Amino acid sequence: MALHRGSPHPAASRRRANPLHALDGPAAGGELELPTHRLGRHPVPAETAYQLVHDELLLDGNARLNLATFVTTYMEPQARRLMAECAEKNMIDKDEYPQTAELERRCVSILADLWHAPEPAEAVGCSTTGSSEACMLGGLALKRRWAARRRSGAGVAPNLVMGANVQVCWEKFCNYFEVEPRLVPMEGDRFHLGAAEAVARVDEGTIGVVAILGSTFDGSYEPVAEIADALDRLQTESGLDVPIHVDGASGAMIAPFLDPDLVWDFRLPRVASINTSGHKYGLVYPGVGWALWRDRDALPAELVFNVNYLGGNMPTFALNFSRPGAEVVAQYFAFLRLGREGYRVVQQTARDVALRLAGQIAALGPFELVTRGDELPVFAFTTAAGAGSFDVYDVARRLRERGWLVPAYSFPDNRSDLSVLRVVVRNGFSRDLADLLVADLARLLPELEAQSHPLRAPEQPAAFHH
Ligand SMILES: *Cc1c(COP(=O)(O)O)cnc(C)c1O
Repeated sequence: MALHRGSPHPAASRRRANPLHALDGPAAGGELELPTHRLGRHPVPAETAYQLVHDELLLDGNARLNLATFVTTYMEPQARRLMAECAEKNMIDKDEYPQTAELERRCVSILADLWHAPEPAEAVGCSTTGSSEACMLGGLALKRRWAARRRSGAGVAPNLVMGANVQVCWEKFCNYFEVEPRLVPMEGDRFHLGAAEAVARVDEGTIGVVAILGSTFDGSYEPVAEIADALDRLQTESGLDVPIHVDGASGAMIAPFLDPDLVWDFRLPRVASINTSGHKYGLVYPGVGWALWRDRDALPAELVFNVNYLGGNMPTFALNFSRPGAEVVAQYFAFLRLGREGYRVVQQTARDVALRLAGQIAALGPFELVTRGDELPVFAFTTAAGAGSFDVYDVARRLRERGWLVPAYSFPDNRSDLSVLRVVVRNGFSRDLADLLVADLARLLPELEAQSHPLRAPEQPAAFHH
């Protein structure tokens, strides 16, 4: 939980700089006690401060061995250079940085084209800090459109239909903006939203249905087209016209390149809006996301604010005001640098590594795959029925001793009996690294199998998919 409280023992965390710095005189920090939980009385030299912070961060895990995160951990040096050059640019200052604003507009057009907006020039969209903000904006548009449709019929509370596997941002949206979450539980081997189950929960209070292209729990795609079909039939029967928001945080940057025939995007007239995380398979460092609406009708005009832009007005829709511009510039760099073929090769490589690694893990014996990495390059696996001496939490803990971060967690209702490990393959996780992971797993197995029973770990935090 990252809501920080003040430290009760500030004196306990004083740090001493390297004694070599004392050779440069006391002002260089060698003799200073450096308080960490309140401001020091005096400045310290920039190099000393740099070294202290730099050294402390060595304790952070190694990003390349982190198979928990979906977020980009590798960019080319040219992208890093561009980002450093743009460090001071504020995205909201469209007037001062008109060309950064122009790159944002181009990125929106590129995504509108990639996601088959009927009239790419009519699609509206914006950058955000990530998918969470983009989902809030998508949800707000759904809620406002629903309220406008229902202006006459009072007394009905809004609800949003989605799978119990939604990312936590949707629960936040419902909490913060007072919408009832209607979570469809998992059942048997159905680990995400099904069309029939979604439609069964729709009523006149439903502002929309969220379909996830790429569930964080197991990497599977939800059947967006089937859900749209079922909602079309519902409209014919009942007159209820319920839009879909596609949460494509990961999948909206995978499917266009690897599954071009899968129809999940604006080709479906019922899809009103789509979000993605530029900092996941958009291949940009954190934090940038994107929200797009199929046309102006899908985004109520009263949610849009105008900021001054070159003496004119620039429409904006955002929760934040100031926000770094560097990530948006880096997104444009990635689009320009890779093109369609570049993205296809990068994503196909990730899928190939995921499929191969999943196969090797299944072949070890005591594991069963829940998914195999053929949708998102992400797969979940669990311990086979026969492997009674250890559980997924034991595996995660032992892998961590070798530096691998492979999270273990339980599924939501009604499959909370199922606990899994999950591997997220990203750009930069090579076949060679995957082979090292399999070798480590194989080496650990005899010890795990020699345990008399699983060493019950305290309940794991659910932060990996949340
Ligand atoms: C990661 C993720 C989010 C949240 O995205 P951020 O960019 O981390 O804010 C929302 N939905 C899904 C499906 C995700 O995978």
